[in-house]
Amino acid sequence: MALTVITDDVALQRDSMFCFFDGNIVLHAQNDVLFRVHRGVLAFHSEFFNAMFDQSFPISHGPDKDRTIDDCPVIPLEDTADDIRQLLLVIYGKNRLKLPEETTFSILAALVRVGHKYGIHGIVSECQPRLLEMVPTSLRGYKQASERRSALKFTPRNAPEALHLFRLIDLGADNPFIIPFMLFLCSQLEESDIRNGLTRADGTPEKLSDADVRRILSMKRELQRRGQDALDTILYFEGPAPGCEMYDEDGNMHYEDGLECDMAYDDFVDRIPKREIDAYTRGDPFGTWVLDKMHALSNREGVCYACLEPHIEGLEKVRQEAWDALPVLAGMTTQ
Ligand SMILES: [Zn+2]
Repeated sequence: MALTVITDDVALQRDSMFCFFDGNIVLHAQNDVLFRVHRGVLAFHSEFFNAMFDQSFPISHGPDKDRTIDDCPVIPLEDTADDIRQLLLVIYGKNRLKLPEETTFSILAALVRVGHKYGIHGIVSECQPRLLEMVPTSLRGYKQASERRSALKFTPRNAPEALHLFRLIDLGADNPFIIPFMLFLCSQLEESDIRNGLTRADGTPEKLSDADVRRILSMKRELQRRGQDALDTILYFEGPAPGCEMYDEDGNMHYEDGLECDMAYDDFVDRIPKREIDAYTRGDPFGTWVLDKMHALSNREGVCYACLEPHIEGLEKVRQEAWDALPVLAGMTTQ
């Protein structure tokens, strides 16, 4: 795919897509990947490059005129090749943001990083709403935000990158819930990943600060405790409730057809998928699968509503209290 050029004993790779024969500037990204592109195009889109190429307004870290490749000045950049590639795709008109089904979190993250750094405000403002959709603004929006994250192929392994990104563009200023929610997503990782950090889609390490590691681990422990409270509410049948439709006041069954609430409830518990149980154990008490199924159960006469009610109310209480406590658990307020 990429051609290799050897200069000064360093193996440099020309990017296979952005290496124009009439390019007049070379961007040298991390891992020694080269992009031969056009000054005028960069300057047209980016405040940063516009200032760099404006001779009347010199800035210190301009092109390295002593070093040329293909007779073009070289600009050394600290960005990854993948970030620069995403940037060039947009400014050369192959904007994948126009194709929502092709847009992933990793692409949005790359574009926001370079858009922010190089003063391409249009890109940042175009990506921002897509990123904000990943964060629920209330518990009611939890499921929809989860679906948005799935559509962007976001997993908890992207959470540290997302946390850093949301801080970079100060998205937390619009919604004080955003940073606590990002910390919550980080808390869903294994403890070793929280401590050691992870890597981005392009292999770049993404390490959490010591302060964030402490914050996230303490949040994880508290959320795991609340997840256990949720499991206790879910797994053990509390009935038959006083108003049970299947039993009379003396505890005798009305019906002899095997539809007793406790047996039906136990059957329901047996059908809860392991991934749902694992989520509570991991410290995510917010999932909706169990609640949705409990409501469906009462509608289909499996378990009467009187018997289900304490489970539904108990679970909703754990969810709401954990949700309300997120900013405090994240160390964002002192309350
Ligand atoms: Zn009942």
